[in-house]
Amino acid sequence: MELILANPTGFCFGVTRAIKELENSLDTFGKVYSIGSPIHNPQEVKRLQDKGLVVVRSAEEIPNGSVVFVRAHGEMPEALRIVREKALLIIDGTCPFVHNAQEKAKFLIDEGYDLFIVGDPEHPEVKAILGAVSNKGTVINDLDAINRYGSINRCGIISQTTQSKDFLGSVVSGLVPFCNEMRVYNTICKATLERQDAIRELASRVDGVIIIGGKNSANTSQLSLIAKQEEIPTLWIEDSEELDPDWFSEKNIIGIAAGASTPDWLIKKIKLILEHR
Ligand code: SF4
Repeated sequence: MELILANPTGFCFGVTRAIKELENSLDTFGKVYSIGSPIHNPQEVKRLQDKGLVVVRSAEEIPNGSVVFVRAHGEMPEALRIVREKALLIIDGTCPFVHNAQEKAKFLIDEGYDLFIVGDPEHPEVKAILGAVSNKGTVINDLDAINRYGSINRCGIISQTTQSKDFLGSVVSGLVPFCNEMRVYNTICKATLERQDAIRELASRVDGVIIIGGKNSANTSQLSLIAKQEEIPTLWIEDSEELDPDWFSEKNIIGIAAGASTPDWLIKKIKLILEHR
């Protein structure tokens, strides 16, 4: 069996930066709090928890005088306000590309546009973007919803950083007939676009693709979606125990891809297991 690794794959710039800052803080302070997962990979989060990371569900749960890490995909302003009141120190791991999406959203609102955010309304990044504009925006994750908006005078569009460019394009095309004026910022990050292109390229060369990444990871979910669109057999796993032996039958060339929050140690582990099958 031949294995081909997607290029690039695994940790992106923003996650690498966030993990480095978080590990430095853990080395210095021993215990660091995060509201929700700092990155969307359960195995890497577990490794960090073993070093002293404490993941809580809300800002209210953080004890006074704590060191708090703000996750790569940003935090709601209200939660940040509470954290500022309680924390001894805040380490901001928010990715610059996420900050950029928040700034573009604020700009569009300030300029009088009706704001549309292409993304998943339940994703923390999208909630943080909405929070940054006091919830003055509409999240689109369903093309059928577009017909419900009616005519829009000035339409401003941004995207969750990990969306698919095809879906962003479809939303823009769908809204055009309803808008007098449209302004679009493509805020999908470079790392996401590169990984999406890499899996398309990989799909043309393999009999099946294994995608490694958290089931809660938006960018990994997009990789899985793209692989399915390319009609290539796909196995999305978080760890090695999900390697189903039946899936490998009649496959000679296997592609391996991983989401932007999948650590190298996990990719290497699964690759090693596959090399010795
Ligand atoms: S996927 Fe993009 S936006 Fe998210 S952390 Fe990585 S570089 Fe930043």
